[in-house]
Amino acid sequence: MKKIYLYGNWKMNMSLSSTASFAQDFLQALREEAALTENTEFCVFVPFTLIHKAVQEFRPFAVGAQNVSEYDSGAYTGEVSADMLKELGVNTVIVGHSERRHIYGESSQQVGDKAAKCVENGLVPVICVGETLEEREAGKTLEVIREQLDAAVEKLPDKARYLIAYEPVWAIGTGRAASAQDAEEVCAFIKQRVNEPVLYGGSVKPSNSAELFSQPSIDGGLIGGASLVAKDFIAILKNYRNTCV
Ligand code: PEP
Repeated sequence: MKKIYLYGNWKMNMSLSSTASFAQDFLQALREEAALTENTEFCVFVPFTLIHKAVQEFRPFAVGAQNVSEYDSGAYTGEVSADMLKELGVNTVIVGHSERRHIYGESSQQVGDKAAKCVENGLVPVICVGETLEEREAGKTLEVIREQLDAAVEKLPDKARYLIAYEPVWAIGTGRAASAQDAEEVCAFIKQRVNEPVLYGGSVKPSNSAELFSQPSIDGGLIGGASLVAKDFIAILKNYRNTCV
């Protein structure tokens, strides 16, 4: 049974009270089916304001952040440093999510600096890469992935621990996941270049996780919408595991 990463990206959703009730449901479900925790790495990436609460509520499971500053400290209003996240009990951070790249204009170089800052501070970056629909239709998918990947990875020291999340922009939040074959093709390309865990993200749900996670180059999922309800989030793993027996 291969190791599966079940990572949830809450984006700008949830509150202190819904964090507590999600964690209760999540922990209860895993107590009832402890086998689901075998060879699984869970992490929920919550808004900054919920990190403190989530770290307490999800123990012993990991809590991650959705972004980090590329700087250490100083006059960067509104930013949060890697050191600050570490102090709160975070050990994993999403960098370069397509919403950061496209809405906030983060460049691949900036994403690389953020990933490097994570590693320097003992945090594990989850580096997101993905093409737009226009780029896919122009046959540029692998070219775009290579550029985003290399710009980030070249800033990391040898032996750095990190993960890559392949998230086609057109599949995020649209209900239209990549086909298992298309996702596998890109994840295999990434794996050849970096040999680190590769997650697929983009409209993963309980109904498509088995096919996606069964692909040889896909080590799990980065899940947005379906990670907001504990039952759905866990069903994503459960449905995949049921196909493995
Ligand atoms: C994401 O936010 O990274 C994501 C993949 O979202 P969704 O699962 O909702 O498509």
